[in-house]
Amino acid sequence: RERLNAATAAAWVRAISAAVSENAEYLTRLDAAIGDADHGVNMRRGFAVAVTTLDAALPDTPGEVLVRTGTALVGKVGGVSGPLYGSMFRVTGRHLADAETVGPDELLEALEAGLQMVRRLGDARPGDKTMVDAFVPALDAFGAAVRDGADLARAARAAAHGAEEGMRATVSMVARKGRASYLGSRSRGHQDPGATSTALVFQALAEVLGG
Ligand code: ADP
Ligand code: MG
Ligand code: MG
Repeated sequence: RERLNAATAAAWVRAISAAVSENAEYLTRLDAAIGDADHGVNMRRGFAVAVTTLDAALPDTPGEVLVRTGTALVGKVGGVSGPLYGSMFRVTGRHLADAETVGPDELLEALEAGLQMVRRLGDARPGDKTMVDAFVPALDAFGAAVRDGADLARAARAAAHGAEEGMRATVSMVARKGRASYLGSRSRGHQDPGATSTALVFQALAEVLGG
């Protein structure tokens, strides 16, 4: 697809919901090792509510689809990931304003604004073993692809690869934010649950955009 519209944005949210539901046990198992064993449950519940909201009424713009998704996540997820992902989607959606369709560079800018909000709220830096460690390489790769003239599908595929590499790199990191940080150096050797769900988020985008 050349541009993202409300229907493709909603398809992205549905694809995320399917992916986190399918991987809920896996995400929870990762969280059991270094957190409180609820990340899969949190993500599944949050995105199920988002999908229900979109099923009730599909907004006219991709921006509004993402804003409503974010609102559902902020309201319905107990863990810290709810407000973080929720604010990310809300800020990303607001950044798209009332555009009916969005191209690669506009989506990139909006996602960068969303990531900035995650970093501001969570105060996590790259290397702290959080979702930021998947998000940053995802958008780096997205940006490199866009500057290379990539269309949305190719940019999303690049982002998914970047996120996955970032996710893997969290294994050797020591957590400095969130519950995993209570473990100190014992958090090393485990993949971060939030970085893993972020990889699913970008994989879903690539899938929906036909990558
Ligand atoms: P909780 O830790 O409240 O149970 P979740 O289990 O749903 O929430 O989410 C845990 C994930 O949230 C972690 O794996 C990490 O990726 C992410 N996370 C935790 N704290 C922060 C933070 N300060 N900044 C960014 N991401 C964070
Ligand atoms: Mg948890
Ligand atoms: Mg929790």
